[in-house]
Amino acid sequence: MDVNPLVNSLIPSSISVGLLLSFFTYLAVAGSILPGKIVPGVTLTDGTRLHYRCNGLLLLLVLIALLGIGTQLDIVSPTIIADRGLELLSTTFVFSVLVTLLLYVVGCKSSDQNSSLKPHGTGNLIHDWWFGIQLNPQFFGIDLKFFFVRAGMMGWLLINLSILLKALKDSNLTQSMILYQIFCTLYIIDYFFYEEFMTSTWDIIAERLGFMLVFGDLVWIPYTFSIQGWWLLHNKVELTTAANVANCLVFFIGYVVFRGANKQKHVFKKDPKAPIWGRPPKVIGGKLLASGYWGIARHSNYLGDLLVALSFSLPCGISSPIPYFYPVYLLILLVWRERRDEARCAQKYKEIWNEYCNLVPWRILPYVY
Ligand code: NDP
Repeated sequence: MDVNPLVNSLIPSSISVGLLLSFFTYLAVAGSILPGKIVPGVTLTDGTRLHYRCNGLLLLLVLIALLGIGTQLDIVSPTIIADRGLELLSTTFVFSVLVTLLLYVVGCKSSDQNSSLKPHGTGNLIHDWWFGIQLNPQFFGIDLKFFFVRAGMMGWLLINLSILLKALKDSNLTQSMILYQIFCTLYIIDYFFYEEFMTSTWDIIAERLGFMLVFGDLVWIPYTFSIQGWWLLHNKVELTTAANVANCLVFFIGYVVFRGANKQKHVFKKDPKAPIWGRPPKVIGGKLLASGYWGIARHSNYLGDLLVALSFSLPCGISSPIPYFYPVYLLILLVWRERRDEARCAQKYKEIWNEYCNLVPWRILPYVY
């Protein structure tokens, strides 16, 4: 096999660097200007709180409108991302390495003592670069952790849209591609619609910003979650109507459980008396919700997410394991995360956690696990 074309397609060009920097500049400038709900983050150990401007949905819609206009005026090629996928991947990877080395240096030099910027170096360069030194590093007032996760989720949608337009241009648009695109688009739009929920997730409140998180946000999310789309560009799949209907059902059920469970917990944390499914919630020790999805299985939100992930792959049929990369990865990640979260909750909530586990014995999958 001639490796030269592959190697060549991985070398960053000025076009891919320009595309990436334009995308980040847009996110930084428009993200600071466009209106959005200001959401206070969790209270940090020193009593301070960050405030997040949750305007991701508007930012995304304006970006798509601008790209649409750019395409009409022949300023941007609609298939540029699909045509330069590998090059953009390597450019983003190099960017992640460089920016995290910079974060490492800035973090080491920081003498700030507030919870967001206090350096947490161990002295081991690899460890500190990988896990990060500071909790919430900023750049001209922009919270970089929130910025990168937003960039990754939007990047995923932009890659998908470019793949869709390439399939259209090549007269290769199949039902499978349409289903995959609809499911991912709904999931990503939903993510930005509920962007404020992100402000209380583990990554935002507890992880420091190092290579692990930046790589995960900028490279892993957009480039590996879109594998099914890339795969469908090069493989033709014909599924029966019954298979397509079943696929829609998997997405729908997964989505309802995923969003419903996350929303119930979010609402409960804000108002522990708010009704769940129209009834007063069952609450354990005043702190743990044992109603709704949280009364059926602990972490039923993970089950919903897994079903949604599966629905992204099912349109590809079962002829290859490659499109199943995302659901398999997510299964491993969420089972591992659930165990770590269980251990954390057991330590935090002590006997009321045991009481909750006795009342709700299932973890993720009711009656099975
Ligand atoms: P959760 O939203 O499940 O949060 C877990 C925390 O919720 C616990 O630490 C505890 O925190 C609280 N909690 C747990 N049980 C209860 C209960 N019964 N009542 C009240 N509070 C409870 O976890 P994540 O932040 O990991 O996940 C959020 C979403 O993101 C999930 O839907 C997940 O599927 C998704 N996700 C997706 C990934 C992807 O790659 N697609 C990767 C990771 C997550 P506290 O101390 O606040 O009480």
